[in-house]
Amino acid sequence: MDYSKYCREFRQKRKECLAKANYQCERCGVKHRSFAFNRNHEIYIVYLAACHLFKEQKMEKDAFLVCLCMRCHYFLDHPRNF
Ligand SMILES: [Zn+2]
Repeated sequence: MDYSKYCREFRQKRKECLAKANYQCERCGVKHRSFAFNRNHEIYIVYLAACHLFKEQKMEKDAFLVCLCMRCHYFLDHPRNF
């Protein structure tokens, strides 16, 4: 599979995913590009990402995507620390 093609398609998918989720994290509801505070009480801007809910679908064109903020994405990748 051509990875550059995958990236292009993924960018489009990401846009669709964010739009569908109304630019809000699907887990905690935080809004795209809003402000939040990290553990050290420092301000940061929330960026939402389209995440593969099922890891085994990572290279699939029609993989199931969820729109998550960085924090929720981290929990998805590290469920044991949750
Ligand atoms: Zn979230």
